[in-house]
Amino acid sequence: MTYQLYYKGGTAYAHASNKVVCVGQNYSDHIKEMGVAQTGQTKDPVLFLKPATALCPLSEPIRLPQHGTDIHHEIELAIIIGADATHITEDQTESHIAAYALAIDLTVRDLQADLKKRGHPWEVSKSFDRSCPISYICDKSINDNWQDIEISLSVNAQLRQSSSTALMIHKIHPLIAYISTIFTLEAGDIVLTGTPAGVGPLASADSVLCTAAGCIEVATSVI
Ligand code: ZN
Repeated sequence: MTYQLYYKGGTAYAHASNKVVCVGQNYSDHIKEMGVAQTGQTKDPVLFLKPATALCPLSEPIRLPQHGTDIHHEIELAIIIGADATHITEDQTESHIAAYALAIDLTVRDLQADLKKRGHPWEVSKSFDRSCPISYICDKSINDNWQDIEISLSVNAQLRQSSSTALMIHKIHPLIAYISTIFTLEAGDIVLTGTPAGVGPLASADSVLCTAAGCIEVATSVI
């Protein structure tokens, strides 16, 4: 299957999404709160995948999965790819980016901790059905600098995550270039750029507000 993205007014995006490439450990304050040794700027990004079946609208209620108990929100800036990219240079990346969105990298934290401890892949804790609620998309031209925009997530009107995307360790352009040397990015594919500090549990009946300053605002709930 593929997933259809939409602009705010309801216009469908030209390309369907086949996959989500996610970047882990891309903000220092989040690395610190997770107790992970700092990877440093010279190391390659930590990557993992979510299939198209992980995607769902952020505006629909978030469904808590049943295969763990500690389900965490991770708010992330999402890059929407506009043209196929294989082994592109950093200079070529801008012409391969079409739009941006906000997504939650929904994570079964207790399970992820166990998988990490045993040296197993993370997918069962991060790539399950509906593990990637995503907002409407915004044409990249509506904001001057997506590499310095405030993204936030509040739960029950309490601010949990708030950070500028300027604090990413691996920035948007080198990230896209690097990913394209590992996975071909197809038009419609989505790149999640990592989460800042403040991740925490979601519970049934929570109300959640996700924002990217001046561009995106989506209120949702948890069931
Ligand atoms: Zn994440």
